[in-house]
Amino acid sequence: MGTNEQGKGTDDVNIAVYCGSSPLALEPLKEAARQLGTWIGKSGHALVYGGSSIGLMGEVSASTLSAGGEVFGVEPQFFIDAGVAQHDLTRLYVVQTMEERKALMIELADVFVALPGGVGTLEEISEIMSRIRLQMTPGPCYFLDLDGFYEGLRSLLRRMVKARFIEEEHVDRGFIFADTTRELIALLEMRSAEACPACGYPVVPESNIARG
Ligand code: AMP
Repeated sequence: MGTNEQGKGTDDVNIAVYCGSSPLALEPLKEAARQLGTWIGKSGHALVYGGSSIGLMGEVSASTLSAGGEVFGVEPQFFIDAGVAQHDLTRLYVVQTMEERKALMIELADVFVALPGGVGTLEEISEIMSRIRLQMTPGPCYFLDLDGFYEGLRSLLRRMVKARFIEEEHVDRGFIFADTTRELIALLEMRSAEACPACGYPVVPESNIARG
């Protein structure tokens, strides 16, 4: 698996995972993060994430590394100073602000996944959703709706469609909800096959979409 100067593998798919940082997250959610990380590592893809060692972020990154995968963390300096960075990563990008972190994660990633998380996760995935809607970032974004965690968001999206703020087709194509970790991984397996340059499919199916 090659890596260019941006830390992007040349024949793998970089999967950005957004998730909670709380060490107190419920065990089934931590287990879901471990299962996803293990699949990323075993499948030869790479994880792009926020660089922290705590909560679901720590679980998904440690599991990817244990399974032999590459992990690219993007961590603001103030979190490193606070001692929450994961230091055994393939590469830790140090940035100054949360904005820089979000931008670099988007630049490094081919595919976006939201596990359950808190308001920080909500902020990050809101930006991804908005960018997908504006066709600035290729979608979809996958959500792990474990135990109905994202039911509130799904309900809000339905309201948005009803009120004609967004077309149903854009919601259906841009935001994909999986009820179980197994379903999420199956969806990512399909998506990775599409996104893999070696497979002969375009990395960005909507080829007119500009990354900006
Ligand atoms: P949350 O979903 O609120 O736990 O936040 C997840 C996102 O916010 C990640 O990008 C984290 O970097 C960031 N974050 C919030 N609080 C912390 C913390 N105490 N330590 C590390 N990262 C955090």
